[in-house]
Amino acid sequence: MIQPTRRLRRLRNTPALRDLMRETRLHLDDLIYPIFIEEELDKKMPIAAMPGVDRHPEASFERELDAARAAGIKSVILFGVSRHKDPTGSDAWAEKGLVYRMVAKAKKHAPDMTIMADICFCEYTDHGHCGVLHEDGHVHNDLTLENLAKQSVTACRAGVDVLAPSAMMDGMVAAMREAVDAAGFAHVPILSYSSKFASGLYGPFREASGVRLNGDRKTYQADPANARAALLESALDEAEGADALMVKPGLFYLDVIQRLRAQTLLPIGAYQVSGEYAMIKFAAKAGAIDEKTVVLEALTAFKRAGADFVLTYFAKDVKGYLGL
Ligand SMILES: [Zn+2]
Repeated sequence: MIQPTRRLRRLRNTPALRDLMRETRLHLDDLIYPIFIEEELDKKMPIAAMPGVDRHPEASFERELDAARAAGIKSVILFGVSRHKDPTGSDAWAEKGLVYRMVAKAKKHAPDMTIMADICFCEYTDHGHCGVLHEDGHVHNDLTLENLAKQSVTACRAGVDVLAPSAMMDGMVAAMREAVDAAGFAHVPILSYSSKFASGLYGPFREASGVRLNGDRKTYQADPANARAALLESALDEAEGADALMVKPGLFYLDVIQRLRAQTLLPIGAYQVSGEYAMIKFAAKAGAIDEKTVVLEALTAFKRAGADFVLTYFAKDVKGYLGL
């Protein structure tokens, strides 16, 4: 009989031994829970493409903060669903606009939690793009920078803990940093969606965030085929002063997370996006996979690839999944 010289199975003999030998650990502290908050909504609305995820009324979304806290989650990122859409997305920076109101309300209700604000315009513009449109239909980079700066200052005035710009405009981190520093908010960090791809996995999010997009975002988001360009995007955001970086989507871009880990000393986040959530949910509903096993495997994969934290719609489920 053949005798193997090296028996890796020895270290897998018992659950306790496997726990001891585990290289990558998932912790509730690693998770950020995204919440969709809609103006003028009377009751929470299920999102058909994301079973288990709702749009929450502005008047009562605090309940979702409580639910996240009860599930051991300390950090949330807020997405506003505006009912006052216009060509520039001005509800995003108005003195008492949606961004201001939801951040202020969240901070007041949950001062112990980290309140992050998505900084972008796609939920606020009537055309669904992440900025101001040129006459030729392209998003105008530098005019959009001015609006990102205004939105950032508004979120800071409302008390936001972390600014999270997702527009993929060139120079956005520098423009935001300069504006918020000048307004007296030099202490507020920027977590940039620095390597964000023009992905087909954002479909369910558009339903969640009430976005009716004309066209696509290929002129500003990174080409899924281009890892080097995406890494350069992150390098530029770092040079502009980003405090933490992000790769979005997550699972299809583990190579980018791993390469970014080797490139930077900054913290890195991975965004497990709506399409990733939907694929797991619907496959589990069909009985094809076990949801708990696959969710924990996917979240662990982000950490194994080098992410420090993960934005995930599964955040509230993880406490139970880990048996905590
Ligand atoms: Zn956007």
